[in-house]
Amino acid sequence: MPELPEVETVRAHLEPKLVGRRLKRVEISDSRLTRPFDPVETAAELTGERIAALDRRGKYLIVRFESGRVLLVHLRMTGQLLHSGGTSLPVDDAHRRAVVKLDDGSDVIYRDVRRFGTWLLVEPGEVDLYLDARLGGEPLAREFTRKRLAEALAGRRAPIKAALLDQRRLAGVGNIYADEALWRARINPLRPAGELQGPEIAALHRGVRAALEAGIARQGATLRDYRTPDGGSGSMQHEFKVYGRAGEPCERCRAPIERIRAAGRGTWYCPSCQPAPDDR
Ligand SMILES: [Zn+2]
Repeated sequence: MPELPEVETVRAHLEPKLVGRRLKRVEISDSRLTRPFDPVETAAELTGERIAALDRRGKYLIVRFESGRVLLVHLRMTGQLLHSGGTSLPVDDAHRRAVVKLDDGSDVIYRDVRRFGTWLLVEPGEVDLYLDARLGGEPLAREFTRKRLAEALAGRRAPIKAALLDQRRLAGVGNIYADEALWRARINPLRPAGELQGPEIAALHRGVRAALEAGIARQGATLRDYRTPDGGSGSMQHEFKVYGRAGEPCERCRAPIERIRAAGRGTWYCPSCQPAPDDR
């Protein structure tokens, strides 16, 4: 599932290709993509809009139009945005859900195997309200200080892994980067979030940022479906410290990485560097 580094990679690839372009023709062939709104109506509304900026918050891509309207794209499990840029893309693609033809002749293709992705057209002035209701702090923003992280975790008895996955506390972190951040911070994924003290909060703040920045630097992690908009793969999967590495040695202490369940998700950690709450 694409997390902040993967969505940021998609944004950075598409930004120079999309900004300033006009949407000449829009075809949306899957009604799930725009529901509860009609895909044909949404496509008609989008046609003619000119793209002013491409932003991101958490795992949302924010396509801002000159009209003030915004298209919010969420890739969910398996959504992909590809830009043709002159290269030919397969025509008989059963997973293609939408095609946007731009005024420079290039195409943006949206494909989605599992079909959980969403496109929502938002009227001017409404996007911040929509996102503020769903998303907490942006972990790479300058305003996201240790104090903000401490506030987001204060009083929570849920395991820290669950708190990191809660998009209303912290936007953009998913299963992979939560495990990677906790390993960097030497914090056990089952520790109650509200129990973390000053130095641990500081380590987690550094760990979250370092894990996300490593992911962005490697263009994200391609485990199965995620692709960069030119059809390439990320390489972060070769650099995971713990994620998916059960039985392999921890690079810090050589203890074998273990897999447990936390927050209902497969969770990888080093039992020696990240001791369980009752072994400390
Ligand atoms: Zn270790």
